[in-house]
Amino acid sequence: THLNAWQAIADKLKGIEIITESNQIAKLSLDYYHFSPILYEQLKDKRADLVVRPSNEAEVIKIAQLCYCHQVPLTVRGAGTGNYGQCIPLEAGIILDTTKMNQIHWLKPGMAAVEPGVKMAAFDKQAREIGWELRIAPSTYRTATIGGFIGGGSVGMGSITYGQLKERGNLQRVRLVTMTETPEVIELSGDEVQQVIHGYGTTGIITQLEIPLAPAYPWAEMIVIFDQFMSAAKFGQALSDSDGIVKKLVSIHAAPIPSYFTALQNYLPSGKHCALLMISEYDLAAMKALIAEYQGEITYCKKAKEIAGTSLLEFAWNHTTLHARSVDPNLTYLQTFYFTLERVEQMYQYFGDEVVIHLEFLKAGGKAVPAGLQLVRYTTATRLNQIIDYHEANGAFIANPHVYTIEAGGNKTIDHQKVQFKHKIDPCGLLNPGKMSGFSKLNLRN
Ligand code: FAD
Repeated sequence: THLNAWQAIADKLKGIEIITESNQIAKLSLDYYHFSPILYEQLKDKRADLVVRPSNEAEVIKIAQLCYCHQVPLTVRGAGTGNYGQCIPLEAGIILDTTKMNQIHWLKPGMAAVEPGVKMAAFDKQAREIGWELRIAPSTYRTATIGGFIGGGSVGMGSITYGQLKERGNLQRVRLVTMTETPEVIELSGDEVQQVIHGYGTTGIITQLEIPLAPAYPWAEMIVIFDQFMSAAKFGQALSDSDGIVKKLVSIHAAPIPSYFTALQNYLPSGKHCALLMISEYDLAAMKALIAEYQGEITYCKKAKEIAGTSLLEFAWNHTTLHARSVDPNLTYLQTFYFTLERVEQMYQYFGDEVVIHLEFLKAGGKAVPAGLQLVRYTTATRLNQIIDYHEANGAFIANPHVYTIEAGGNKTIDHQKVQFKHKIDPCGLLNPGKMSGFSKLNLRN
């Protein structure tokens, strides 16, 4: 009867691509939650009942209506590269895969309107033809979708100039479909767009986004090595503070992290610490002077046109964890705002090789600050929590990547505006249920 019920639902979606094969469903039910040994245990068995792949907004409306009518949970999925089980369906139901909604509606200097399933690198290829590109993109840039980045991401290359995704101005307008008895299409602009940023698809199904662009420079890529980690860290801060040098990536890695970058071993002598950088080609002379001041040594420098294979981006941000885990699966990670280099040094000394730091610099509150996605040698959940507590007791802020609700992760507190907004958009709590704890609590009280 369970199968029959799902067959009846599938029948009503005629004309829309539907996936019912169990191996495919299993694959499309999971993401990169396994970077966390804690999330792995909690989420590994979660599966949807059905995956649907609409190709336009009209089909999304049809799916939402059917889900509401049958009170079936619906979880939106882009490329499924999230790290906190953002698109894992806790209460089964339907997965709405957006990858067929990949049209660029329009593209003009400074701005574009796209469907959510547009892949970020594919978008940039077109935007660069008119001299523009995405302001911010994660290290999963080649595979991730623009809608998925808005719904589940937060920072990446470009953040050294444009800050976090949630900074005012980084998203202009969104169109979304509501999960109500008669699904509606609504548009948000100005501060209202905050309702969907990092909302894990709990506050509406995004069908269109208007995104601001950045001028595209020819980005040179460089590896610089250092004898001391703190010299590398200070160099990273100095480069980030150098307003005359246009940059896109400032990523600093303590040894032994460079040894995990198998493909870069020719440029990374054993025991050294390194900086992975993306800099405007026009500023290379200024860069060399800065590197000399911090006694760094350039081991790799390629101009934009010479970069044929993998970008250094794919060793930075959370790609570092990917490479590290392929060498040592006991490694996991944390996400930390240190705020100051003094605190970076304190943690570097205190934890030794149990917590190995890489810094990704970004703009926050008008200042360049070091954020850490440090690698942690995992032993137990208790020890992991002790490590988090020690950081927080000493003034660092940790966005815990080992939890699956919005609030327990980066937000820390319940965003009442988001919760209220959800009540309007999704009164029955069918969109990605269990991810917004503020909503579940409110519901229990009612
Ligand atoms: P998905 O994982 O498919 O979805 C993410 C969330 O958005 C889900 O909750 C989903 O429900 C929601 N969503 C998707 N589409 C819609 C829609 N149309 N409407 C409403 N909600 C929607 N993240 C960073 O921020 N910076 C990084 O540098 C970074 N590096 C990473 C490196 C690695 C190796 C890995 C595995 C992950 C990394 N991530 C990073 C996390 C992730 O890759 C990015 O956030 C990425 O942008 C997510 O895009 P996606 O298409 O895979 O989204």
